[in-house]
Amino acid sequence: MFELKSRDAAGRIGALTIRGRKIETPLLLPVINPSIQQIEPKEMQKMGFEGVITNSYIIKRDEELRELALEKGVHKLLDFDGLVMTDSGSYQLSEYGSVEVGPEEIVEFQKSIGSDIGVILDIPTPPDVGLEKAEKDVAETQKRAVNSVPLKGDMLLCGTVQGSTYPALRERAAKGIGGLDFDIHAIGGVVPLMSDYRFGELVDVVMSANRHLPGDKPVHLFGCGHPMLFALACAMGCDIFDSAAYALYAKDGRYITPRGTLRLKEIREFPCSCPVCSSTTPQEVREMGERGRADALQRHNLYVSIEEIKRVKQAIHEGSLFELVEARAKSHPYLLDGFKRFLKYDIEHLDPVTKSSAFFYTGPDSLKRAEVKRHLGRLGRIGQGETLVLLPDANKPYSKTYGVTSTKEHHICIASPVFGIIPLVVEDVYPLTQHERPSELDREQVELLKSCAEDYAKKFKKVMTHKDLEFLGIGELFGDLKGFSADRRKAENVELKLRAIADYQFGSGAGEALMRGATAKWARTDRIRSVYSGSELIATLRAHDGFLTLTPEGAMKLLELPSPANRVIVIDDAVEFVRDGKSVFAGFVADADPEMRPYQEVVVVDKSDEFLGTGRALLSGGEMKAFKKGVAVKIRHRAPGDTIK
Ligand SMILES: [Zn+2]
Repeated sequence: MFELKSRDAAGRIGALTIRGRKIETPLLLPVINPSIQQIEPKEMQKMGFEGVITNSYIIKRDEELRELALEKGVHKLLDFDGLVMTDSGSYQLSEYGSVEVGPEEIVEFQKSIGSDIGVILDIPTPPDVGLEKAEKDVAETQKRAVNSVPLKGDMLLCGTVQGSTYPALRERAAKGIGGLDFDIHAIGGVVPLMSDYRFGELVDVVMSANRHLPGDKPVHLFGCGHPMLFALACAMGCDIFDSAAYALYAKDGRYITPRGTLRLKEIREFPCSCPVCSSTTPQEVREMGERGRADALQRHNLYVSIEEIKRVKQAIHEGSLFELVEARAKSHPYLLDGFKRFLKYDIEHLDPVTKSSAFFYTGPDSLKRAEVKRHLGRLGRIGQGETLVLLPDANKPYSKTYGVTSTKEHHICIASPVFGIIPLVVEDVYPLTQHERPSELDREQVELLKSCAEDYAKKFKKVMTHKDLEFLGIGELFGDLKGFSADRRKAENVELKLRAIADYQFGSGAGEALMRGATAKWARTDRIRSVYSGSELIATLRAHDGFLTLTPEGAMKLLELPSPANRVIVIDDAVEFVRDGKSVFAGFVADADPEMRPYQEVVVVDKSDEFLGTGRALLSGGEMKAFKKGVAVKIRHRAPGDTIK
């Protein structure tokens, strides 16, 4: 079973339960040759590897290994008590054209040696083969998948998506594999793309599969062992990787770094402080015997690989995965190809609405991020009034810097080189305040500004543009701000702002449902802290990201919007749990707003739209229905009158 703990872009930190033990993803499994182990799996565990992957086909073919594995189990064979995944011989099939084992036989064998995760014997199709051959292989893999699933017993079973370099075929294969009762999904047949640095095509292959897999299972990207790819692969939604690279590269005198590969003979300084690199010099390693050299390089390669996995995890936790992917992409032009291809895919529905780190503009590619796309979409929900007033970007908070406030007459906006238009009424909402950019502008920023301002201006009768924004070529120019310094605490200006935040956060109509006649209490920081309807507290405005957190009274007002807007509808069995203030688990969701985004505030209701509670969604609307396990909504408040036990 798989549940999500944290997420960023399409990347996630998950917990995979295997025989009662929880293993965290993203997970990197070093490939272990069952007959030769230069570095023992036990030692890898000390380096931080929670699991390894070995080849059941090699074990089965070797009488001694087979007998030992059947008698004592694969864990004893490897002298390793962590997670052991086994491969099925598909790799040998792709290398040598045939294997001497049947597809069902090898699944049974993996189960009988006690493998934690087994893999079906799929048909790996290389890139660029004819469509007919690729289709035939996918059909055969699907047939084997169907026959293998009933045999898995208590072993987790991994089903592999093939389809060569045909995105439409990958899509179809993903739907086929995704429809079966697998525990892990895998993307196979991509090693040649990775070794030839065809990262653009790799992204097409992975995205066309991932977008059509149900999303509730971890995705294993077979053969992805180079740390330079981990950030991008995770951002695409892959969770498990295996590395034969650490050993293969070492044998070949190659030294892995997260930015690429170096040749030992060319290294003058080790750019690393792992135990190997901090205790030897490149010259000393070069002078070692063949075995010693390979051993030193293998260890370094392992350390640097696990370090990058940890770096990716930290980036997901803090919401800076995109920045990491971009930094890695800039280390090789072909990786940049992969990154640019990735930007063409829409992952906005999976990207959390709020993050703990600020949005960093690092170049024109930042404008293609989910956060910008989302903002431009949500801009459509706000902005009415007589006159649009455009001001240049400035220090935040903007309203303080300029000493101005939006009123019914003047809808004031910042012409932002990152988000196009930032209406002052939503200036505090993530990431509009929480972003940084270099002072020098890129051409693409100016283009975004112009097109966005032009578009937004269409909603107004009149446009007034600050003289420093003359280049926008719209509106009547002005220089003096005095005319816009209204009282920001005046009731009608406060209501205007609250309505805009509600519409921006919950959708058009939410402002009217929630904020009719609403009043605010202010914090000492001179920001709105809590929102009232009459004497009733309906929401608080979070200081760190400017979003509204609803009280039960507020949430019930939001139910005026037609179902399923902002709702998670739970099955009858879950009603009592939610009333008790317990989290909503994915398996108990009957339906959910398809527009729901991770980390959004949502309302939980029963099937007759009766209010049960309000809280924070951890899953997107689509995932709410796909996932079987894990928290779907963390409840903050439940129905009034229900007491927490
Ligand atoms: Zn090192």
